[in-house]
Amino acid sequence: MRFSELYAPTLKESPAEAEVISHKLLLRAGMIRKVAAGVYTFLPLGYRVIRKIEQIIREEMNRVGGQEILMPVIQPADVWKQTGRWDQYGPEMMRLEDRHGREFALGPTHEELVTALVMDELRSYRQLPLTLYQIQVKFRDEIRPRFGLMRGREFIMKDAYSFNANIEQLQASYSNMYDAYSRIFTRCGLNFRAIQAATGLIGGKVSQEFTVLAESGETTVLYCDACNYAASDEIATTRLPEPSTEAIKPSEVVDTPGVKSVTEVSTFLNVPETKIVKTLIYKYGAREIAAVLIRGDRDVNEEKLSALLGTTDFHLLAGIEWGDYPELVQGYVGPVGLKGARLIADNEISVMRNFVVGANKTGAHIISVNVGDDFQVQEWADVKLVKAGDRCPECDGTLLATRGIEVGQIFQLGTKYSDAFGATFVDEDGEVKPYIMGTYGIGVSRTAASAIEQHHDDNGIIWPISIAPYEVSVLVLNYDREEQKEIGDRIYGGLEERDIEALLDDRIESAGKKFADSDLVGFPLQVIVGARTIKSGNIEVKVRATGERMEFPLEQAVDKIAGTVIRMRESLKLEA
Ligand SMILES: [Zn+2]
Repeated sequence: MRFSELYAPTLKESPAEAEVISHKLLLRAGMIRKVAAGVYTFLPLGYRVIRKIEQIIREEMNRVGGQEILMPVIQPADVWKQTGRWDQYGPEMMRLEDRHGREFALGPTHEELVTALVMDELRSYRQLPLTLYQIQVKFRDEIRPRFGLMRGREFIMKDAYSFNANIEQLQASYSNMYDAYSRIFTRCGLNFRAIQAATGLIGGKVSQEFTVLAESGETTVLYCDACNYAASDEIATTRLPEPSTEAIKPSEVVDTPGVKSVTEVSTFLNVPETKIVKTLIYKYGAREIAAVLIRGDRDVNEEKLSALLGTTDFHLLAGIEWGDYPELVQGYVGPVGLKGARLIADNEISVMRNFVVGANKTGAHIISVNVGDDFQVQEWADVKLVKAGDRCPECDGTLLATRGIEVGQIFQLGTKYSDAFGATFVDEDGEVKPYIMGTYGIGVSRTAASAIEQHHDDNGIIWPISIAPYEVSVLVLNYDREEQKEIGDRIYGGLEERDIEALLDDRIESAGKKFADSDLVGFPLQVIVGARTIKSGNIEVKVRATGERMEFPLEQAVDKIAGTVIRMRESLKLEA
């Protein structure tokens, strides 16, 4: 491709609307343009990246036996009503009516449609397992679309669905997908981790998320410094500290006038925050109250609490609401003698001895409190937010924290959708059974954005070679000079012949503009043809990622450049 013919309007400045680096650079490099909030057009360079990611995904899906189909974007409401998700999805689902008043949705996902698709014709265990996948646009009406391709409303996804006869088949399908995903993100040149994840609205029990490690990520990932354990902070757990061996002391009420917060209590009584138990009061349901006991230095994990309370409708008691519960003394609530609240204790309290709690009396706390002696706990649970420095739940290691961008998720769904549709097959023993399903997604456009979040510098994008729009840019600094033009054309032609993807910068622009654009768009290798080339008889080549510069004699240039590209490609290749 010749740059002079390419539609790639690059920008010098970042548009004000862009907050994250991938959004800024995609706009500046002339790869995407905004159509509406969270809705973008891919320009030629951007679309080449998408097509390359898609191709890697296709190859790996086909390798594990996936078969590609294409389902419609527009989906009738009926199938969604059958699983109850028409209501559950809420305003995130884009809905519309046709001219006859029939309801439709722009598909945010395709579990319903794919189950309805196969149920009449996939009737025998002999046809199982079956994995179908598609690569297609999805629509989610995000409340605040932002960050460009990271959180768009319309985005490209690969979604796959497996239909299995039994749990063993499901586990095999899931494990194949796990391997395929690992290969896909490795081939895309991304530093990623597979982590245990929450299942949310999709359903099912076992799920892993593939996250690309990047500071700008929205997911906090906790991972072990010694073993493979890794989980999002929504569900991460920790091994409890060893039980305290202190001798139990009798409890005692002490005056703490005006002293309320954990920090204040810690300073006033001269005890570490880890020897204080705070009692957090949550309101949920109509007017029910939960008192959650947790170690003083900890935060409650509201995802875990939500699962425990069985609702997302809960909040910390606030402001004038305290007036509705006169038996609760704001700032001094504690478990000893507490009435009118469901008491939930974080399991870490069980290993603590002689701790401090509120006395349910203004200006007082109780010291040397012990479970069993001073109050009883009926409901133990893990409700804490696990953090860096906590112990690994699976080994003696310590957890570390990092940030990640979720780019893929795999679920063992079970029979949620087949039950809802009555979608069954006849098993070997003649019995009629529901399919056991798995569902597996990859955000294709998000993968492109996350590659930029992970690979960039002040000058622009640094594409991994496998997903770069072109592998080499040939910069002819003065294309209007015959000798330079002739060398540039020859190298470009030679690379094309060797199936190296090259972009010839033949624009009549300043050398500075050509260097800046090449760095900005992020071609892995830059070949520079200028006055120096003519003088020295050597061609200069720069590696975008490292800044490393090489010189090759002109007559060997094409072979040497092609060889370098092939080595760079191979660094991301995997054993078959
Ligand atoms: Zn570990």
